Amino acid sequence: MARRPLIAGNWKMHFTAAEAAQLASSIARGCRNMGDREVMIAPPYTAMAAVAAAVQDSPVLVAGQNVCWEKEGAFTGEISPVMLKDAGASMVILGHSERRHIFGENDALVNRRVKGALLHDLVPVLCVGETLEERDAGQTFAVLENQMKAGLADVGAEEAGRLVIAYEPVWAIGTGRTATREQAQDAHFFLRGMLAGLYEKKLADTVRILYGGSVKPDNIDSLMAEPDIDGALVGGAALKSESFLRIVQYTA
Ligand code: PEP
Repeated sequence: MARRPLIAGNWKMHFTAAEAAQLASSIARGCRNMGDREVMIAPPYTAMAAVAAAVQDSPVLVAGQNVCWEKEGAFTGEISPVMLKDAGASMVILGHSERRHIFGENDALVNRRVKGALLHDLVPVLCVGETLEERDAGQTFAVLENQMKAGLADVGAEEAGRLVIAYEPVWAIGTGRTATREQAQDAHFFLRGMLAGLYEKKLADTVRILYGGSVKPDNIDSLMAEPDIDGALVGGAALKSESFLRIVQYTA
């Protein structure tokens, strides 16, 4: 089953609105003829409207870096799905390892966010991944299984079909240490099998699973050659248009 590849940039806590709009314009220019793949960028909230305006006549999609499950209310510091959409987002990164490990977000919280995003027609990019200690202890698949089961609790098949999953081994994020293509493929194959078990194979065959963790222009081609790697979630290399566009223009 053909899955449309998705290259996603996570800008984390970088750029003022003006800086972000400039980078977004240059990415949009470089993505004019990208019919066979999707491109997504996730700016900080304060730059989202400016970025959405900068990419409006291009195929580039805009995403939030997190979202609350409620539409409005007393949730200091949070952004609602309605607000994200109002600012131009159609997707949202959830359960990123920095949210989990720096800010203490657990699977139950991530699950509430996933359900809230789906309810409001935002496409969640649900991030899962093991730490180095967990990998060294042989717990990678057990960790992924727990994160998937808990993150997708009470998410029905119709909604799960709209999800994107990102496998992001924590030890590979921002470290310059990429998973080998074999390690990534093994994890993606496992995650697709989990989706088939939780839902059905037909659904699992359509859900895109991105790899994230020190993706760079010089390793994207070999990663994308693996059968279960459907795209990338890119941090550091997404902060410059030259490196991000080279990743977008991968050849597998
Ligand atoms: C990320 O933030 O999701 C990420 C994968 O970062 P980096 O590409 O810098 O490792």
